[in-house]
Amino acid sequence: MIIGVPSEIKNHEYRIGLTPSGARELIANSHRVLVQRDGGKAIGLTDEEYRKAGAEIVDGAEEIFARAEMIIKVKEPQPNECAMLRPGQILYTYLHLAPDPVQTAALVKSGCTAIAYETVTDRKGGLPLLAPMSEVAGRMSIQAGAHALEKAQGGSGVLLGGVPGVKPANVLVLGGGVVGLNAARMAMGLNARVTLLDRSLDRLRYIDELYGDRITTLYSTVDAIESLLPQTDLVIGAVLIPGAAAPKLVSRTQLKLMKPGSVLVDVAIDQGGCFETSKPTTHQNPTFEVDDVIHYCVANMPGGVARTSTFALTNATLPFAVQIANRGAKAALLADEHLRNGLNVHAGKITYKAVADDLGYDY
Ligand code: NAD
Repeated sequence: MIIGVPSEIKNHEYRIGLTPSGARELIANSHRVLVQRDGGKAIGLTDEEYRKAGAEIVDGAEEIFARAEMIIKVKEPQPNECAMLRPGQILYTYLHLAPDPVQTAALVKSGCTAIAYETVTDRKGGLPLLAPMSEVAGRMSIQAGAHALEKAQGGSGVLLGGVPGVKPANVLVLGGGVVGLNAARMAMGLNARVTLLDRSLDRLRYIDELYGDRITTLYSTVDAIESLLPQTDLVIGAVLIPGAAAPKLVSRTQLKLMKPGSVLVDVAIDQGGCFETSKPTTHQNPTFEVDDVIHYCVANMPGGVARTSTFALTNATLPFAVQIANRGAKAALLADEHLRNGLNVHAGKITYKAVADDLGYDY
């Protein structure tokens, strides 16, 4: 199969759909890989590395879309990319169609077979192509929070780990899923005092077994959150209710319980945020202040560490890409129900129920 990897063109997107070693793996499976010139340059992946892996460097996206049977990307196709897709061509990338009727209509019109990373499942009921980005965002949330706590950033001037003779900071992690566990792990690694809240007792048991008395686990209630806020330096919002907007766990009124210069990092901002005062921010302008509390609400945190994120994403997407390339889309989708759950659009029809329901298409 000929696989094409165009440069990402969405604003401030520096990731790329495939690493050089990902390209090599596909080539080792007897496929051809086309990579757009300078596609990985911004994150230090040179054309030479792709060439050494056996890929062909191609000048423009037009040629890639014209020649490739499968397009591997990171972000949803932009309108000019949708216009280049053709019937039968496979598109393998993040799509997030439900809130995006324009892109959905364009993909339906193209006749392509679009597999969305975010709806591919695994045997444990998880979302294996979303998990690596949650790992990145969870780990990054602590470094973002630590930076925001510095005086020059408007923070209280507290060092997360303290020093010998000075108390460490208190970090409160709301939600103990992939983001929360990774945040807690980083905060513990910096010697902060960590309390983690969740509604799932199984999850709390699991985290307790992992870390014992290095972490305090608590069942998530209004009471628990209110009693912890006055002594907390950094709160990480990491809750998710699948398919729903994030629950608001800290209200505007409760914000006043926090010390001036404390920091909220709302990782759940992509689902509307779990603090009432959150609003989405960007890497260019990541924080704002409400009632002397610093808010960090960047909606695409993994984009800030695009190199690490690219490697993490390829690790997760590559096995499915190899399956699709080796067997062809139809046989690969029929053979693997988890990959099949990723199929969102095929031959002019929406093939994912939630998207069809939300946007009024037949299913
Ligand atoms: P997850 O499903 O692994 O974990 C969510 C956890 O929240 C679960 O353990 C669940 O039991 C818990 N929860 C639900 N309601 C709760 C409540 N009221 N109190 C406490 N815990 C509660 O999800 P995840 O992968 O960790 O993702 C968390 C959030 O981070 C999601 O909204 C996701 O979209 C977002 N995210 C954002 C970025 C970003 O760049 N901003 C990147 C990756 C993920």
